[in-house]
Amino acid sequence: MTRSGKEYRERLADGRRVMVNGEVVSDVASHPAFAGAVDSVARHYDRAHAAENRDVMTYPSPATGEPVNRSFLIPRSADDLALRAAALRRSAELSVGLLGRNPDHVASFFAGWAARSDVFARAGAGYAENLVRFYEHLRDEDLYAVYAIVPPQVDRSKPAHQQSDPHLYAGVTGETDGGVRISGAQMLATGAALADYVVVSNIAPQPPGSEDQAINVAIPVGAPGVKIYSRRPYASGATSVFDYPLSTRFDETDALIVLDDVFVPWEHVFVLRDRAVCAAQWTETPAHVLGNHQAQVRLATKLEFAVGLAHRIAEATGNLAAPPVRGALGEMAATVSVVSGLLAAQIQNREIDDEGIAWPAREECFAVMTLQSELYPRVLHMLRDLCGGGLIQLPSSSADFAHPEMAADLERYVGGPDETAVDRVKLLKLAWDLIGSEFGGRHHQYEMFYVGAPFLVKQRMYGVYDFDRCRSLVDQVLGEYGLDTPLPGAAG
Ligand SMILES: Cc1cc2nc3c(=O)[nH]c(=O)nc-3n(C[C@H](O)[C@H](O)[C@H](O)COP(=O)(O)OP(=O)(O)OC[C@H]3O[C@@H](n4cnc5c(N)ncnc54)[C@H](O)[C@@H]3O)c2cc1C
Repeated sequence: MTRSGKEYRERLADGRRVMVNGEVVSDVASHPAFAGAVDSVARHYDRAHAAENRDVMTYPSPATGEPVNRSFLIPRSADDLALRAAALRRSAELSVGLLGRNPDHVASFFAGWAARSDVFARAGAGYAENLVRFYEHLRDEDLYAVYAIVPPQVDRSKPAHQQSDPHLYAGVTGETDGGVRISGAQMLATGAALADYVVVSNIAPQPPGSEDQAINVAIPVGAPGVKIYSRRPYASGATSVFDYPLSTRFDETDALIVLDDVFVPWEHVFVLRDRAVCAAQWTETPAHVLGNHQAQVRLATKLEFAVGLAHRIAEATGNLAAPPVRGALGEMAATVSVVSGLLAAQIQNREIDDEGIAWPAREECFAVMTLQSELYPRVLHMLRDLCGGGLIQLPSSSADFAHPEMAADLERYVGGPDETAVDRVKLLKLAWDLIGSEFGGRHHQYEMFYVGAPFLVKQRMYGVYDFDRCRSLVDQVLGEYGLDTPLPGAAG
């Protein structure tokens, strides 16, 4: 059954170890670096748990009949995909798309893996059973999993087993009666400090010799030996929520995860030292497209937020009536519409596989993945352009409004004809947090890389696109003339 935000918070007290600013933090819910994000995740749970959202955001668990989050739904039709997308959208709106790895993301991967557990069964029925049981556990207890599926940037010129230590990259070091032991590091576990489980696997195919890294396991974030090395948190450095409304509430954190001889019981092992299954889980199950469809619903929400900001700011500055400004807004809107349109096309052109599972259409899904590393920076650039220097003439902090002399000057010189200075500054500081703050910079990097390095994503697009369709048009035209073809109208 869906859980409440309170229930989510209670489970965080599990002895987790988050390394940040020279400190080992266990109580993330009350630490200034993480408390705002914990609040946002708690609101995420409250949202789906609320009676008024139940119809859109939940469906009855096939096991218990209780309402469970729709991100876990295994889609079997275009209608199912549309219902999932509506739920994901409502969820994404809570953070205007800024919680990239909210609980819906990896839930979508598990739905895709569970839908085609036969892929995991290739290594033995037990792995598929573990996977399905774990999926049901996440679904029916409404738990939050994140993943770390890329090795750390130690030396990318060599595979795992050729590094100075073959267990620098997270991998299996041994097996016991009860399970396996895992050591090494993996990047980048976004949201790990806030989640219940971190899934460790590898999205890149592992070469012969790197079998220890050809795994998929789920590890409780609080398990002994798990260390979460958080990057610099942006919430704790903020002067106020007013000054940094996004950094203070939606910094989901990213982390290098270090596994120090972590024990993983067999029931949490889904792939073990199997290079073929480890690779197939991303391509022969709908996990990757379902997870990325979710990520793109979120991206569309975030892009719309950026367009909304641009429109509001152009209005506030009195520029909205200028045709070039309208043109710029139109271009932003067109860019967002490309993403929304491709999302709709993923549903309309879904592929139903031989097990009756509906996959969001791959071409359209990979098209967004390919373009997003350019579309997001482009939309940010257009927003920046429309804001001009207004973003920089802002008062140093909200404290200036508490000083009568400063407040009077701000009211006179920063407020607009129909707007108080507080409202204008509030709007522009919101934009700055998306464009110019350290949080904003991280989001730029996130949209460029969360789905993999752009040069690789483009190659994957090459792999799924139907070039024959295009080539046949060329063949058609080439077939219509030859060396001896007379010019049209020439006397024959
Ligand atoms: C904010 C953020 C959050 C993330 N969250 C997660 C997460 O939750 N879970 C997770 O598993 N991962 C996450 N990632 C990691 C992400 O998956 C990786 O960043 C991504 O896979 C790219 O790998 P990399 O960063 O090592 O880049 P690299 O593969 O090292 O590539 C970096 C750049 O080097 C150049 N380059 C490298 N190799 C070549 C080559 N052969 N030919 C040409 N150019 C090359 C390209 O310019 C490329 O863009 C996140 C990343 C970011 C930035």
